[in-house]
Amino acid sequence: GRQFFVGGNFKMNGTIKSIKDIIQNLNDAKLDPNTEVVIAPPSLYLLLAREHLRKGLEVAAQNVFDKPNGAFTGEISVDQLKESGITWTILGHSERRVILQEDDKFVASKTKAAVDGGLSVILCCGESLEQREAGKTIEVVTTQLKAVADKIQDWSKIVIAYEPIWAIGTGKVATTEQAQEVHAAIREWLKKEVSAKAADETRILYGGSVTEKNSSELAKQPDIDGFLVGGASLKPAFVDIINSNQ
Ligand code: 13P
Repeated sequence: GRQFFVGGNFKMNGTIKSIKDIIQNLNDAKLDPNTEVVIAPPSLYLLLAREHLRKGLEVAAQNVFDKPNGAFTGEISVDQLKESGITWTILGHSERRVILQEDDKFVASKTKAAVDGGLSVILCCGESLEQREAGKTIEVVTTQLKAVADKIQDWSKIVIAYEPIWAIGTGKVATTEQAQEVHAAIREWLKKEVSAKAADETRILYGGSVTEKNSSELAKQPDIDGFLVGGASLKPAFVDIINSNQ
């Protein structure tokens, strides 16, 4: 079976104090031992998070660059993350695709650099409202994933996060049926384009307005293997989302 996975994407939120408080809350909580937990604070706080977070819980960057070092102002390398005990990175989040104009190829190149360098990757994909209404959801999502499949055969260090843009930060969570349908299509695509093993073993997370109120129903869907949580990961109820697969 695929181990349930819950990631917390803090985005550009938090202070030294609030991030310490979130970590203290996680350290003190009774967390489902069968769920893998990863938190992604802003890069400035990665070391702080790694220092304070208890063993067994992991820290992710929200981005990483695809070159090993050099004149790349503002960027952070795979090796710099690894040296700091950061084992995961998020890549391809829609906020970076849309606001920072990252294209599929760049996301794929960074995913390859991360995986080759020994990081695990939460690879995000998802359609806009306009694309969904045009019936293009599966096409958009599989095109985003195809760019990665063109560069990588081994998907064992990749977790896919399906995050419909219209559900992010809007309070408009996808219905269980809408999410399950896309997750099943992604798994089908993995089977066809990557391997039966990748289809069987790759965790597919749902992200977009996940809260402690809707997480249990979503977790029951056969192809939903966890969550990538934004706003609610900053609150104490994040613990309930982590424990929603019980
Ligand atoms: P919200 O949970 O705030 O909707 O954000 C989802 C997200 O983008 C996680 O990466």
